[in-house]
Amino acid sequence: MAKGDCVFCGSPVSSQGEHVLPRWLFKRWGGQGPFTYYVGGKAIPKRNGDTQRDGLARVMLPVCGINSPANCNGWLDRTFEHAGKPQVRAVLDDLRRIEGAEVLAFARWVVKTLLLHAHPLAVNSEIGHLDIATSGSVLELPGAALPTMRSTDRFPDDLSLWMSVIDPDGAAVALPEFDRQLLPDVHRPDGGGGRSGATTLGFSLPNGRMVSFQLVFHPLIDIVNPFESLGWATRLWPNPPSDLDIADHPVLDAAGGRALTKWLATGGIGIGLQPGERWPNRPTGQAFRAVSER
Ligand SMILES: [Zn+2]
Repeated sequence: MAKGDCVFCGSPVSSQGEHVLPRWLFKRWGGQGPFTYYVGGKAIPKRNGDTQRDGLARVMLPVCGINSPANCNGWLDRTFEHAGKPQVRAVLDDLRRIEGAEVLAFARWVVKTLLLHAHPLAVNSEIGHLDIATSGSVLELPGAALPTMRSTDRFPDDLSLWMSVIDPDGAAVALPEFDRQLLPDVHRPDGGGGRSGATTLGFSLPNGRMVSFQLVFHPLIDIVNPFESLGWATRLWPNPPSDLDIADHPVLDAAGGRALTKWLATGGIGIGLQPGERWPNRPTGQAFRAVSER
């Protein structure tokens, strides 16, 4: 598959590809802003050094459209956008409680969006390609993962999504000390495993709070999110909850929000597994605490 070919089916993509963040989502932010982009916890400046931008960046990914027999963009619409859009609006715009199949459609939309947003071939109109080695925001799935997702309508195994709510002006929250979890790159003789990674995407809410989604790819690794254990993060994938009420979700302060990306230690460590094995959840021995990040 050449660079620029459809990430789902390998068909040539003639134009620049498709928007990872759908147009209707942009309208949601009409006149809002300014926007600041964070990669690996650091604000990304424009050429003039300013980190604030008037508009939201477009993020493009090579996905084939109506000119291709596979029309993978049409498949994304049918499979994720149609069911997810009303739920995303209900939750992010109206702060409405959703339940059952609504939560499932919402969770699938968020997984799909973060998966494509963090794809190594995604091009952000403000910051270009994210650098896999340094950003900590790119998910590099095994080559067969997206074609398999296209043919089965199922997400790859060992993808986990959590949601947290942050109030930047909220009262200080006392978080306990956590052990950071090691997230190595694991490999098994059967070809299982791959490059682990985590990515986050935040959206502003009409009540002045932020919602933060964290998607982690942890192939053949069992992980426990300490924020979920303490009630500060809700697992949305796999096994979404039976109902979701964003207005009633526990709220982290700004330091707690920054700590959300710090419980995982990613990058570089390779582990070889025996046939049939998974890597057990294992602390790094490095503790961190949200308050010490202030
Ligand atoms: Zn395609």
